[in-house]
Amino acid sequence: MCNDISFLTGINDPYLKFDKPATTIENGQKVIHLLQSLPMHCPVCGQLMQRNGWLRRRPVKIKILSIAGQPTVLSIIKQQYLCKPSASCPHPVTCVAPIQGIQKGCRIANLVKQHITLELTQNISQTTIARQHNVSTNTVSRVLTQMQDSFTPNRHWLPVAIAFDDFKSGQFAQSGMSMILMNPLNHRTIDIIESRQSKALRHYFLLHYSFKACCAVKIVVVDLFQPYRRLVHELFPHTVIVADHFHVVVQAYRALQAVRIQVMNQYGTGTHEYRLLKRFWKLLMQKIDHLIFKHYYRRRIFGNTCLSNSEIVDRLLSLSDDLKVAYEYYQTLISAVNYHDSAVLRQLLSWKLTQLPQPLQKTQRTLQLHKQEIINSFQFQLTNGPIEGTNNKIKAIKRTAYGFRNFEHFRIRIFLALKNSNLMVKAQLKQLRCLN
Ligand SMILES: [Zn+2]
Repeated sequence: MCNDISFLTGINDPYLKFDKPATTIENGQKVIHLLQSLPMHCPVCGQLMQRNGWLRRRPVKIKILSIAGQPTVLSIIKQQYLCKPSASCPHPVTCVAPIQGIQKGCRIANLVKQHITLELTQNISQTTIARQHNVSTNTVSRVLTQMQDSFTPNRHWLPVAIAFDDFKSGQFAQSGMSMILMNPLNHRTIDIIESRQSKALRHYFLLHYSFKACCAVKIVVVDLFQPYRRLVHELFPHTVIVADHFHVVVQAYRALQAVRIQVMNQYGTGTHEYRLLKRFWKLLMQKIDHLIFKHYYRRRIFGNTCLSNSEIVDRLLSLSDDLKVAYEYYQTLISAVNYHDSAVLRQLLSWKLTQLPQPLQKTQRTLQLHKQEIINSFQFQLTNGPIEGTNNKIKAIKRTAYGFRNFEHFRIRIFLALKNSNLMVKAQLKQLRCLN
């Protein structure tokens, strides 16, 4: 009998027996009727207690995992117990039998909660999980909040190299951006920080990490955002700042796009040159090594001339001197970054500002300011690339949930989804230890 119950419900209490009738259907729910009785000892004197009737009028309804796709509850009639007054037990004691596999005072089986935890690691909304398990959304939130303890960062440890980058998180911070902190050496996420403002970041690091842990950090990979510099030097005294490759190249990319649009507007809409620059913009942005020069195609826009991609770029560049300079600048920067060539970079950054078109002047000034950091990046070869992959995953989680209102819930969901994050690895170890 009891084996059947544990097989059907996943609850391993040897003192449960089927009642009559054993199963019914009420309000679209399967109900399994059970009786529970066991030899109970008095909590005061320790003697065997007297059985004192069944709680027939108030069976305990407990939610378990659905059976054959239908929500199921256990309806358990419990035994009442009495310990009559005696010398060792001066007052009468009464109690009701507890059930194994269910927390005291809780009406949801532990198995359901474990299942909810497992589902939370997938990219499913909390409402869907609640509906599937026949519980309220608040129960799912509570299961999520209970995991908070597993995801507190280690106060006394930070890796040798850290990288941070921002991502769009919603309404949690004033700027709408939060930060990911990552170890660029093994691509593990260390933590998610609510706001990217300097004040919030300083507060976070001072609160969560000891001075010794901060001193252990030797390399910090960041984008070219100036206010971070002061903060990094203040928080991590023995550190080298490395500029992220992607953010370096993006500066020139945006400048080149701006120059192209400027040239287009100079020619005016409807002109042949305008249409050429609009149509072949992707070829201008392509790395020069990847431009195809072998294959010729008939180009209707050039009066059916057979041209290769590299010839088209040559024709586009002949339209404007500014565009030519910007293109050369962009390609030189890409090759310097690609081949980690600091000599080429130094030469590029020595170009005079007056020689460059207006949008590039700003880029040149920014890159000159961060010259040493870019050269550092050639030496260490660390980037924020892995963070961008994580960003994509976070975006998917946010989209499925239609946004989050509680930052802590959002943070835990991210960690549950990133199975190789530092905190998730720690939580898994903790679970293993509990099982052993
Ligand atoms: Zn007693």
